[in-house]
Amino acid sequence: MEYRADITIVGAGVVGLAIAAGVADGNRRVYVLEKNDSFGLETSSRHSGVIHSGIYYPPGMLKARLCVAGNEMLYQMCSEKNIGCAKLGKLIVATSKGEIGELEELFDRGQRSGAPGLRLVSRRQLQQLEPNVAGEAAIWAAETGIIDSHALMKFFVAGMTGKNAQIAYRTEVVGINKVASGYRVSVRDGEEEFSFITSVLINCAGLGSDRVAGMAGIDIAGAGYRLHYCKGEYFSVGGGKNRLVSRLIFPVPPADVSGVGIHVTLDLDGRMRLGPSIQYVGGLDYSVGEGNRELFYRSVRPFLPFIEQDDLAPEMAGIRPKLQGPGEDIRDFVIAEESDKGLPGFINLIGIESPGLTAAPAIAGYVAGLIRGLV
Ligand SMILES: Cc1cc2nc3c(=O)[nH]c(=O)nc-3n(C[C@H](O)[C@H](O)[C@H](O)COP(=O)(O)OP(=O)(O)OC[C@H]3O[C@@H](n4cnc5c(N)ncnc54)[C@H](O)[C@@H]3O)c2cc1C
Repeated sequence: MEYRADITIVGAGVVGLAIAAGVADGNRRVYVLEKNDSFGLETSSRHSGVIHSGIYYPPGMLKARLCVAGNEMLYQMCSEKNIGCAKLGKLIVATSKGEIGELEELFDRGQRSGAPGLRLVSRRQLQQLEPNVAGEAAIWAAETGIIDSHALMKFFVAGMTGKNAQIAYRTEVVGINKVASGYRVSVRDGEEEFSFITSVLINCAGLGSDRVAGMAGIDIAGAGYRLHYCKGEYFSVGGGKNRLVSRLIFPVPPADVSGVGIHVTLDLDGRMRLGPSIQYVGGLDYSVGEGNRELFYRSVRPFLPFIEQDDLAPEMAGIRPKLQGPGEDIRDFVIAEESDKGLPGFINLIGIESPGLTAAPAIAGYVAGLIRGLV
């Protein structure tokens, strides 16, 4: 007889782990399958580490709703469970009078999306808050912060394993077949291949999530599930310049929200970096182009006049799993139970780019709702 699981989650990134911690109850047989040697080695450790407030996304989108909910949940979790975070607040800075209209539109969208703690500030108020930052006006987002995402993932791992759920590392999902009682999942573990049956299958495979959806027979192009990889590079800032700002400083984003613009982040140790840039790429390449230093310098110079090119050093890169290709309109997260594709109990999470870290605990609650009554 084949081995049976109740709930199987593909991918041990922050989203898969948050879901596992949420659905494990001590009785259900819950498994997380991860192809790497440990959790969170892909996008969940290659990001800005920002707890977003949800200002950027059109009202009603899952991106907006789950970000706003996740923001509050994360701060509560951090304070109750001693996970490192700091509510530094963020300034989105208009660097010319011409950008003030866009800033006001963004403020209005953020208000309508329910982003908490937003306020428009004048040039004078901006200078009082951050004397070394140049700008004509800004949005002050008081509820934006930073988080130790590794500690957050460790907390989810402890939460799930404490309720009898297990993670299998070096275990890659290579096949999915619908059977009468759920799904036969085929996995590769080194040289060995084996399969088991699961009642519910949750695809949180990040950059591989379109491929995993395709394994179950979904036409990923037809369903609009094909991912486009979009690289974001970071440069660290040296020369003691981290002492010149105390909040997160962002530019006015591009109108299509293809990214939030090259911004300043600080980590919990006070280190400063700039990023992420935006570049659609054909594959997984995490190198950082030394030659992009000038692009970074030019992008931030209008609001950070104290930065010199020599302060910047290539640091790291992450890759966004985007549903929209270059120049296309913003797409929402796909979080879908696939009964209407003839695949009941198969849940796809595709295109979980930013604000996926912030939204992770709210995504877990949303997915728990989708599988209620199924197991
Ligand atoms: C440059 C950048 C900056 C960002 N900044 C922020 C930010 O400041 N704030 C914010 O809220 N969000 C941010 N994000 C978004 C956030 O990082 C992601 O939304 C989040 O980490 C996604 O987590 P995940 O679990 O869905 O995916 P991942 O972390 O990619 O995890 C997916 C896992 O699935 C595994 N996997 C894939 N295929 C298989 C398979 N066939 N079998 C088994 N395992 C498999 C992978 O190995 C991986 O471990 C940023 C993203 C990027 C790229």
